[in-house]
Amino acid sequence: MKNLMKFIGLAFLTITLAFTTVDKKTIVIDVSHGGHDNGTIVNGYNEKGIALNIANKIKELNKNSNLEIILTRDSDKFLSLNERAEQINKLKPDFVISLHVNAADDKKESGKEIFVSDKNKQKEKSGSLALELFYSFKDRNVEIKKADFYLLKNVEYPIALLELGYLTNENDREVLTTEKGQSELAESILNVIK
Ligand SMILES: [Zn+2]
Repeated sequence: MKNLMKFIGLAFLTITLAFTTVDKKTIVIDVSHGGHDNGTIVNGYNEKGIALNIANKIKELNKNSNLEIILTRDSDKFLSLNERAEQINKLKPDFVISLHVNAADDKKESGKEIFVSDKNKQKEKSGSLALELFYSFKDRNVEIKKADFYLLKNVEYPIALLELGYLTNENDREVLTTEKGQSELAESILNVIK
């Protein structure tokens, strides 16, 4: 009888584990630049800091325990593209979003860009991810483009690179550098990954 109870207990545990693993999702947020690599700098604001702030907010806003969000960096340190690709591929994520901030000589240039590559091993899924991101942003100033950037080619899982706006444009900068703007961006991204 005792053994039977043990067996039932074990069977129950196995079933529970099977169910919990089915729904578990792992998402990587690639936090671009870092350390000596500031990325774009305008008026004392830098891309590396903005990317980290927004990534942290995505993590904080996530209340779904079946959704694990892993950041490629959670401090101000430099990681090469090769190190990033290796780290991400080891995690075998469901998908990856790389966060960046744009700059242009023309201060009127504004809006978001989402990049995907045809050289990605899961390019169909990467394309769907780009579309979902496209529709999640409230403004319609968003473009999907193709580019064979290093991570887009070398990460073996669905991946999109997101340029969140132009730090050189006054309106975009307001969104990128304020608590409210960063939270809204984080929420739009979380809506796609949850
Ligand atoms: Zn960048």
